[in-house]
Amino acid sequence: MNSLSEARRAAASPLFAGLEGDVGVSFEFFPPKTEKMAETLWDAIGTLSPLAPRFVSVTYGAGGSTRERTHATVERIVRETAIPAAAHLTCVDASRAEIEEVARGYWDIGVRHIVALRGDPPVAGTRFEARADGYASAADLVAGLKAVAPFEISVGAYPETHPEAASAAADLDNLKRKIDAGADRAITQFFFEPDTFFRFRDAAAAAGITAEIVPGIMPVTNFAAIQRMSGMTGTAVPDWLAGLFEGLDDHPPARQLVAATVAAEMCRRLYAGGVREFHFYTLNRAELSYAICHLLGVRPQ
Ligand SMILES: Cc1cc2nc3c(=O)[nH]c(=O)nc-3n(C[C@H](O)[C@H](O)[C@H](O)COP(=O)(O)OP(=O)(O)OC[C@H]3O[C@@H](n4cnc5c(N)ncnc54)[C@H](O)[C@@H]3O)c2cc1C
Repeated sequence: MNSLSEARRAAASPLFAGLEGDVGVSFEFFPPKTEKMAETLWDAIGTLSPLAPRFVSVTYGAGGSTRERTHATVERIVRETAIPAAAHLTCVDASRAEIEEVARGYWDIGVRHIVALRGDPPVAGTRFEARADGYASAADLVAGLKAVAPFEISVGAYPETHPEAASAAADLDNLKRKIDAGADRAITQFFFEPDTFFRFRDAAAAAGITAEIVPGIMPVTNFAAIQRMSGMTGTAVPDWLAGLFEGLDDHPPARQLVAATVAAEMCRRLYAGGVREFHFYTLNRAELSYAICHLLGVRPQ
């Protein structure tokens, strides 16, 4: 089906009717701090696993603050599930030798996929300072990891331009450097308008980036928290989104329904524009991502 007939179908029939289920998904989790949070995480992994994600990834806390917890979570996924696990790894406050040791450790326990990032400093609002014996950017990290073992590597991409980049073009050059260094795919920062993604995908293609660019989907339930995060990441929060969450502070179940509706509609429009891979920022909760995947035609395997 070409994109014009797909767009016509999306406009003319119930939005989610008859999707073929030809969608690949991945899920991102953060390492739990407490027993209770671990329980929530493992419930979420148990719920989402039957959807046969391409991979699940585990984040690395700002400043490398979750090194052990990230490692333990990834290790348990490898041990207890059949889903490919991807470990996030950053350059912050680590020497090249330390990163090499961590990467070797991952390879030895069977991890074949790293999400390679420069990372943010532990104190929000301060700037990243490269260590003399460390990596200065994600592109350098990708090259370093490839020298350790033939990892599959994902990197970050910024449809609304990384806040520290000199320009959108410079940011795309940086993405190209990461791909040229050996990254297999880019996963984007979250965004709220499909056109933001399409413009970025076109600009990346025009810049000679041929690797797959996977939209990062953030289902919003806590609007105030997302507004704060968006301020830090430079993500535009549309007025209509604020309007949709107005008056729902004391109605958590309604917020969940609104969150699923908004995110699913965006995914549907991305699908109509040819997107077939989606990466969900789950925040360790399964239901929203599960519902959106279901609407996109993804079923337990
Ligand atoms: C999918 C995804 C997952 C993430 N997971 C984590 C996580 O687990 N833990 C965590 O701490 N953070 C995470 N982050 C956040 C990320 O660490 C921050 O956005 C960080 O500020 C930039 O990381 P990067 O890998 O994109 O850096 P880089 O690609 O190195 O880019 C950083 C900035 O420097 C610029 N730059 C880089 N090299 C050059 C150069 N040679 N010349 C000029 N400019 C240059 C870039 O344009 C950009 O502005 C994630 C982000 C995404 C999109």
